[in-house]
This record gives sequence, C-alpha cells and structure tokens, in this order.
Amino acid sequence: MKIETIAIHAGNHIDETSKAVIQPIVMSTTFERNHEGGYDSGYSYSRAANPNRTALENVLAKLENGAEAAAFSSGNAAGMSVFQALEPGTHIICPDDMYHGLRNQLKMLFAGILEFDFIDVNDADVVKAHIKPNTGVIWIETPSNPLLKITDIKQAVTIAAKHNLKVVCDNTFATPLCQQPLALGADIVMHSTTKYFGGHSDLMGGALITREKNELWEKIRNVQTMGGAIPSPTDCYFLTRSIKTLPYRMRGHVHNAQLLAEYLENHPRVEKVMFPGLQSHPQYAIAKAQMTGFGAVLSFCLKGGEEEAKKVVNAVKIFAQATSLGGVESLIEHRASIEGPDTKTPFNLLRVSVGLEHIDDLIADLQQAMA
Ligand SMILES: *Cc1c(COP(=O)(O)O)cnc(C)c1O
Repeated sequence: MKIETIAIHAGNHIDETSKAVIQPIVMSTTFERNHEGGYDSGYSYSRAANPNRTALENVLAKLENGAEAAAFSSGNAAGMSVFQALEPGTHIICPDDMYHGLRNQLKMLFAGILEFDFIDVNDADVVKAHIKPNTGVIWIETPSNPLLKITDIKQAVTIAAKHNLKVVCDNTFATPLCQQPLALGADIVMHSTTKYFGGHSDLMGGALITREKNELWEKIRNVQTMGGAIPSPTDCYFLTRSIKTLPYRMRGHVHNAQLLAEYLENHPRVEKVMFPGLQSHPQYAIAKAQMTGFGAVLSFCLKGGEEEAKKVVNAVKIFAQATSLGGVESLIEHRASIEGPDTKTPFNLLRVSVGLEHIDDLIADLQQAMA
C-alpha cells in the first residue's frame, strides 16, 4: 500500500462490538481477567498496553517501514528511553547541532551514567576518530534543529556497521514523507510527534520505530512500560486521527517552504538562508539523494545582527512568534534566546516553521515585517 492509504487505515479498524467505523477511545486502565486468570483480549493494564496506543503504534511502524513502534508522552521521553536502555558507561556519538532539549538531557541527567561527544556527525573522519571501545550508538538528526544541517545516513550506517554500533535517527524535521532512515539502514527512528504527526500544535507525543526486534528494542519496550512515559488513550486517538492527513499536509508544507526559502534567499536584508532544498545549502546533494522532500522548517540570518532579527519577529502579523514546529499555522522565533546560555545558534538567526496558509500571504507578511 502507498503511504496515503497506510496513514488512513493502518491505525484504524472497525470496532467489533459497536461496528463504529472509527476506533473508540478506550479509557479503562484495567482489563478483565478470565477464569484461568489470563487476559482474553491481550490487554491487562494500560501502562503496558492500550488499544488506542496499539493502533497508533501500528500506523507509526508502517509509515516508517519498521518492525515495531513504541509511542511515548513526548519526543524527549522517546529519546530518553533510548538512553535509559543503554548499558551504563556506553559512549554515544552525538551531532553538534543536536536538538537542544536532548543535548541538555544528556548533559544534565546522564552525566556520569553515559559518555557522549557532540561532533560533526556528517564528517566521516571526525566520527571514526571519536569511536571508542565503549561506543554503542551514533545519534544523528537530519535535517538538524535549528541549523538544518544534513547528515549522510548511509555513511553513518556504513561506519556503524564496521564497529557494531547502532544508528538512531531523529527524523522529526523530515517525517517519513520526506525521508525513511530505516530503509537506508538506520536501526531506530525517533520522532517528536508533537510536530508534524500531531500537526495542529495541540498535543505532545514521541515515538521510536525499530527496523528489527532485537535486544535493544526489548530493553526500550521495558523502559516504556516500566518507566511509564506513555501517551494517554485520548492523545493516542487524536494523534492517530491527525496522521490520516499527514501525507497531504506534508505536501503543502514542503511546497510553501521551498517558495519561502527562495523568496528569503533573494531578499536584500537576508544574510543567509538555511534550507536543504536550496542549491546553496552545503549538503544539498546529500539531501537530494536521501530525501523525497526537503521538509518545511528553515532558518535565516538577518544582516545587522540580533536587534534587526528581533524587530522582524515583533512585526509579523500572520506568523506567531512562538517555538515549536509542524503545525498548520506558521511560526517564527528568535532561536538562540530559547536554547539557553550554551547555545551555538547565531544571534541573528530566526527559525521558521512554514505552515499551510497561502504562500502569498506568508511572503507578504515577511515582506512587510522586513520593510
Ligand atoms: C521538538 C523536538 C524534539 C523533542 O520533542 P518534544 O515532543 O518537545 O519532547 C526532539 N527532536 C527534535 C528535532 C525536535 O524538533
């Protein structure tokens, strides 16, 4: 089946008892046992599994072409479950432009438990130079947040295979509509489903999808059910509902972002646009080879520095000045000030999540804000 069909059907089935076409929300935390003490439905207690979560995990696994998926209460909870599933003392190779929430999680919650280096994961020599006997994982994020750096997934997989390492790919910016890391050999895909999967800036969620069910995956499943960072049945329901339109939403997002990136690149007040769909992007060739669309988040730097950048976010009328991405509404933010004191993000950088409004209105809004 094609991805549009999977998105609509893989997370839904007709309810056996009521014949409802849309799966009902099952709020029950507990499920009746039979005379032998067993569980006829397979469900026992909702932290371990719930019908709405099962439905969500089914569609997530199929969208990324994986063996199985695990849904979490946020993207950070999904990332943390990977870190918690690793043996203490494991060394992780991380991107220098890693999502700041996960970078801070490692630095503040896993210091002394795991080892990590933040490096240019797209530079094969640099990666190889950082592999140690206790290295277990190469973590990649492509395109990265907020600099839109691209990492060659196949290259990371090739290096990992030589050293028996796992590759985990944060695919939040691309979604399976634009990039399928498991097909390129990555072991696990991570998502903040708060972003494009949810798509309406009204729910938090995270997901991990595995290429194969192995020892690491069993440990991750244990972290999910024992740690309990699970999404509620209602959140699972709404996420499954949103996913049905993900393929069509992504087309609109990708279309608008490309046009907005091209507009900004030609604007006299813009110093630089970071977007993998522009030929000026340093890794454009890699992006073109491994992506089927370039996503819809872009960053741009303004001439004149931080003050000029902040004036623009205060002058927009359609864009909301807010963090996050992936919703139908467009957002713009001054990125460095949200990332905290250890940010490496340039102070004249604005990050844009391009929404589904008409592109002419979005361009006109930035035009007036920069006038
Ligand atoms: C938002 C985001 C996360 C974290 O997800 P939450 O749902 O906010 O916990 C992780 N990685 C990337 C690339 C993100 O954009």
